[in-house]
Amino acid sequence: MGNKKVSKIGVLTSGGDAPGMNAAIRAVVRTGLYHGLEVFGIMRGYSGMIDDDIFPMNSRSVANIIQRGGTVLKTARSMEFMEHAGRKIAYENLKKRGIDGLVIIGGDGSFKGAQKFSNEFDIPCIGLPGTIDKDIAGSDFTIGFDTAVNTAVGAIDKIRDTADAHDRLFIVEVMGRDAGYIALHSGISTGAENILIPETETDIEALISSLSEQEKRKKLVNIIVVAEGDKYGANEISTIIKKRLPQADTRVCILGHIQRGGSPTCLDRLIASRMGFAAVECLLNGTNNVMVGILNNQLHYTPLDHAIKAKQKISEDWLNIVKILAS
Ligand code: ATP
Repeated sequence: MGNKKVSKIGVLTSGGDAPGMNAAIRAVVRTGLYHGLEVFGIMRGYSGMIDDDIFPMNSRSVANIIQRGGTVLKTARSMEFMEHAGRKIAYENLKKRGIDGLVIIGGDGSFKGAQKFSNEFDIPCIGLPGTIDKDIAGSDFTIGFDTAVNTAVGAIDKIRDTADAHDRLFIVEVMGRDAGYIALHSGISTGAENILIPETETDIEALISSLSEQEKRKKLVNIIVVAEGDKYGANEISTIIKKRLPQADTRVCILGHIQRGGSPTCLDRLIASRMGFAAVECLLNGTNNVMVGILNNQLHYTPLDHAIKAKQKISEDWLNIVKILAS
């Protein structure tokens, strides 16, 4: 917390892109302008701060972008920003324009950078959780997660059609880095018979016996959704199943980057708009170094260092739902 008044703010997107980042940029720009602030766009995350790729934005700069995936400010990972020397150059570039507040839309790595930068140079930084992985504590949703899950759901539904037509067992790998949320949500929503996530120990024997049991019941169509961060990737699971159940017609589908792009869902546009609006309010009222989240449909502010350290936990309820509904 602090009470420094801001007059010129910068906004950037950093780390992996996520659908809804544009809606967040739009909200930051328009809320800032509404309050009489000057708003600057910073290109390619922290790289643009170091390379001085910074430009003034107006209301028209963000027209017609709310429905677009990706990010009009582009995004990047910057090795130079990891070092104090790089952050100092970035600070000089902000200072010469009088930029005295920042909104960072990105993941936990971006928040680590923001936290360091703010401590070193006394520029208040507000983080917005922009990541499809939902691997940040302090928000029920992260910008991009809902779109990514819906993309995965659409794809798995299609895969089930062909699995059903051929009596096949499909192993579908979804994104999420070391978090299993995309797998959990898309798996439950598509009625997947098994969901393998890094948050729980994958029990191969239990998986094989459930598949054999289903086979006995003449249930030959199976969808196994595997999170990319699970101990076994889709290919390894497939190899094991082919060895243990050679009679099963097993196929692998890795959904990959289609989960990152596309027009954001209504939910992602809404949360991005609310969070972008709240970020500017934070800078105006002197709240520093927090991540804006939404918990129980209320805006919620988590100190950046907590958003960095803590990961969301998957509750037992969710795991029970998976067990009972997939039987
Ligand atoms: P995603 O979850 O989509 O990968 P992210 O924000 O976690 O997004 P990272 O690549 O981890 O993505 O971080 C983005 C950028 O933040 C890095 O390229 C770097 O410039 C900066 N950054 C990350 N960690 C630190 C750190 N410890 N110190 C300073 N800067 C950092």
